[in-house]
Amino acid sequence: MAFTVVDHILYNDGKPVSQKPTPNRGGVITPSLLVIHYTAGFTAQSAISTLINKSVQASAHLVIDRDGSVTQLAPFNIKTWHAGQSSWKGRKMCNGFSIGFEHVNCGPVLERGDGKLISEVAPSKVMPPSDCVRAHHQNGEKTPFWQIYPQAQVDASAEIAKAVCAAYGIKDIAGHYDIAPRRKRDPGPAWPMASYQSRVLGRK
Ligand SMILES: [Zn+2]
Repeated sequence: MAFTVVDHILYNDGKPVSQKPTPNRGGVITPSLLVIHYTAGFTAQSAISTLINKSVQASAHLVIDRDGSVTQLAPFNIKTWHAGQSSWKGRKMCNGFSIGFEHVNCGPVLERGDGKLISEVAPSKVMPPSDCVRAHHQNGEKTPFWQIYPQAQVDASAEIAKAVCAAYGIKDIAGHYDIAPRRKRDPGPAWPMASYQSRVLGRK
């Protein structure tokens, strides 16, 4: 896996990654921030079909699956609609200056009365304990468990982020929870933010 960015398109080992253009896009941007998200779902296919659906009015630049496979929905220099009402270092409406990576992950996991772990977004879905981690969210909420991010997914995301941040001179990586803390809790505490930032940016 060797990622590069050519004309705002992501390439892996010399070939463009899978492209699924979204209609949910704006004009040209100069990105200076990378925003990390989870999809609050279970498959890349469901996330992609949502984010290319015009009526949903939401999108992102990439969807990164749990096995590390990646789909690009818009060129990196085009505004996508991933952040919503948000601010970073005093600048509002982060879509106008950021790139959004979505990671397939269902987020919060609750403990049922019988001790089974269930997904908050799909309570009928029993989660294997090996797919969950006990972790506390930085916003102080009491959700006991979160779905893990597989190493293959984190590794692919980090390698992609290195290429993207180098291509645009990006020096900041934030979670959606950082730029919209009252509304959003993704990517949640299971995302290894500190090690990811230092791996991608070489600091922090
Ligand atoms: Zn988000």
